[in-house]
Amino acid sequence: MTLTLDSLNHPTSSSPTQLDLVLNGKKVPLHIGQNILFSDSFGTIIQNLSKNIIIVTDRHLNQIYGKKVKYFLEKSFNLTVQIIEILPGEEQKTRKTKEFIEDEMFKRGMGRDTLLIAFGGGVVLDLASFTASTYLRGIKLILIPTSLLAMVDASIGGKGGVNTPFGKNLIGSFYHPEYVFIDPSFLDTLPKKEFLNGLAEIIKYALITSKDLFDELYEKKSKLDLNELICRSLLIKKEIVEKDERDNGIRSILNFGHTIGHSLELLEDFELSHGEAISLGMIFASFLSLKKKFLEMEDFLKIFSLFKMYNYPLLLSQKVSWKRIGHTLSLDKKAENKNPRFILIEKIGKIAPTPDNKVLHRVEVDELKSSLIWFCNRFVSKKESYARHY
Ligand code: ADP
Ligand code: ZN
Repeated sequence: MTLTLDSLNHPTSSSPTQLDLVLNGKKVPLHIGQNILFSDSFGTIIQNLSKNIIIVTDRHLNQIYGKKVKYFLEKSFNLTVQIIEILPGEEQKTRKTKEFIEDEMFKRGMGRDTLLIAFGGGVVLDLASFTASTYLRGIKLILIPTSLLAMVDASIGGKGGVNTPFGKNLIGSFYHPEYVFIDPSFLDTLPKKEFLNGLAEIIKYALITSKDLFDELYEKKSKLDLNELICRSLLIKKEIVEKDERDNGIRSILNFGHTIGHSLELLEDFELSHGEAISLGMIFASFLSLKKKFLEMEDFLKIFSLFKMYNYPLLLSQKVSWKRIGHTLSLDKKAENKNPRFILIEKIGKIAPTPDNKVLHRVEVDELKSSLIWFCNRFVSKKESYARHY
């Protein structure tokens, strides 16, 4: 079944769904469905791409799923499957780890006909995509996201990359996989904190494009249909990325909440997860939208209460202050002459355009300062030591 908004609203079966992305003239099919990884169609697709398979994953996922996936492909499809394991965690997303993967591949004699399967969360997907794009000038790639965040974010868009001491994702490439397989049954083993991490991006999609999706998240907390939420998010991201593949224009609306979010991650030495950081970032961007009289108070309060409802910790350490945020903001990639620019909303589900019909808003220094002071008074912990609760 091909995925459309209509098929989402009127589901006819629980069979796997396919969504085709067209990027740079290349079609990238996304297959979505429970247990699709252990289906014949998955094995046959892999078999047709290559006989030499390397799976890149992290230790955590290798322990849970490594043997099962390898066994399935080797026994059912007569393939040779090797696994390269990296340590879990954002701090592994470095040039050094990329080098480690490359060296392991050379040692194992992997040639240009190798198919690299990236199996894991965003860290594995970003690292492995970047590695596939440069290994012997490019080898075939398949993405299998296992975290909610990677399913709704890293699996679409073709951005691979690594972090450097100078900032996140500063070195990388655009590189498209042959296929993406999204199997929500992997989420059964995902820790709650990681679940909220991904949900924050889904909330972002709702805030920038879909009141319906927001209402669903607001009203159906205890009976969310994850398959459907993932499909809706993918459709939204697909539409935006296809319009602006190389991230020069409209795609920047995906940065809603991320301007402050990235500053917070940096100031908290990455002890704050991406989801925690952007949940606070989205509250800040909504507050700015309110101050600039785009957003009504009622919508602002509803947005705030959604994050509280899902138990986002919404708490920062004393490492964060309005002055420090201000300083890191001036270094943001989207800043213009060191003045940060923000994506704002005019209501839930709708971006506020600038007077010249663009999407990045400049904010006056005084307005930014007073908003940052409100934000820090509200969210920076009054105590020196505390724990974030989930
Ligand atoms: P992201 O949040 O960008 O996906 P990571 O790649 O660091 O970031 O993944 C977050 C953590 O979740 C890692 O420790 C990873 O091993 C773990 N993880 C990812 N998917 C699953 C899963 N399906 N089950 C259990 N743990 C998972
Ligand atoms: Zn994000």
